[in-house]
Amino acid sequence: MSPFEDLVSYINLELPKVSGVIDQNNLAPQELIDGLRSRGAFNALNLGLNNVYALVRASARWSPAVAHIIMTSASVAFRINRDGPLYSLCITEPGGGSDIKSNLKTVADERTSGEAYLTGEKIYASNSLYADEFLVLANGPQGPTLYLAKGGPGIKVEAQDLFTFRGAGVGRVVFEGVPAQRVGTPGKGIREALETVNFERLSYGFIGLGIAEGALEETGPQALTKKIFGQELGSFQGVKWMMADLLIDMRLLEEFVASAVSKAEREGKVDPLDAAIAKATGAQLAQRATWVAMQIMGGRGFTRGSRLERLARDARMLDIGGGAREVVYDFIGEQAVNRFKNATR
Ligand SMILES: Cc1cc2nc3c(=O)[nH]c(=O)nc-3n(C[C@H](O)[C@H](O)[C@H](O)COP(=O)(O)OP(=O)(O)OC[C@H]3O[C@@H](n4cnc5c(N)ncnc54)[C@H](O)[C@@H]3O)c2cc1C
Repeated sequence: MSPFEDLVSYINLELPKVSGVIDQNNLAPQELIDGLRSRGAFNALNLGLNNVYALVRASARWSPAVAHIIMTSASVAFRINRDGPLYSLCITEPGGGSDIKSNLKTVADERTSGEAYLTGEKIYASNSLYADEFLVLANGPQGPTLYLAKGGPGIKVEAQDLFTFRGAGVGRVVFEGVPAQRVGTPGKGIREALETVNFERLSYGFIGLGIAEGALEETGPQALTKKIFGQELGSFQGVKWMMADLLIDMRLLEEFVASAVSKAEREGKVDPLDAAIAKATGAQLAQRATWVAMQIMGGRGFTRGSRLERLARDARMLDIGGGAREVVYDFIGEQAVNRFKNATR
């Protein structure tokens, strides 16, 4: 078994056992983080883009939160070109995440050769409860710039008690004069932060697929074989057509994200339009698949603490995390208008 196959089989074995506990405690057990780490889940450069996304999809079938942990750390590793630590990504501030530039209050007091001291507050920082290092967007001498800070004294992390992506280590992080190193181009932090987020947006296509697969695998055997009015529920046309819509969209998204990853590997960066389309489509698919899964389950779909409940709660977040749906649609819309406004007939 290759190290990658070992990692996939670890995820397939462990997540069905612990995903409920992760959700309940809003925390992944240390043994799981250690198990993922020792098997190389946080060595994104070594794994490569394709394998990272394969892990993200496999994890999302049971725990989108664990998928998010792997994906967030990888997005930083790819940005700064360094493997090893488990990273957190700290962009959003209490004033709001959509308009990052106007709300950026965190300050980097920069000294010689890119050494700086960070002061400020970030919210919704995924992985902050587990991170060894933090990639932080802050105002440096030449404007917004990316800095890397090691975890330790001066960084206060407080878990955020959300009802979605519980266990993804999402927290409020306060920096009080924390030593950091400049890792981005001075003044280009917004653009570089968004490039990092593009990796996440593409991953939401894979998380959406994983959530859809998880929801249907969980409910299909229970619901589609149930006898209602003397026949299996799966034989009713209304049900078949809902399932057909899902299968069509799953296959299309699967093909789309695979080609987006191949392009990113060839060109050395994620195409922002591909990333935006993957995120918008992944979010829609996950929400519709969990809706259908709940519908065919009837009242049993509302069982508290079930896998389906978790997946349905997490599906909704895909339209906010990594950029609100409207922000993503604005970007896709601009590309569409630019492409077609001068089209010749
Ligand atoms: C589980 C989770 C994990 C996250 N992880 C991270 C992370 O690791 N690092 C990080 O930095 N951030 C993270 N975020 C923050 C996320 O990026 C922001 O929530 C997102 O960018 C939206 O920002 P906001 O929540 O401040 O909403 P706001 O910016 O206040 O926007 C509120 C709403 O306004 C609407 N809106 C915004 N702009 C427009 C527009 N142009 N047109 C029309 N309507 C609009 C949208 O409906 C939006 O939801 C995470 C969030 C969640 C929920």
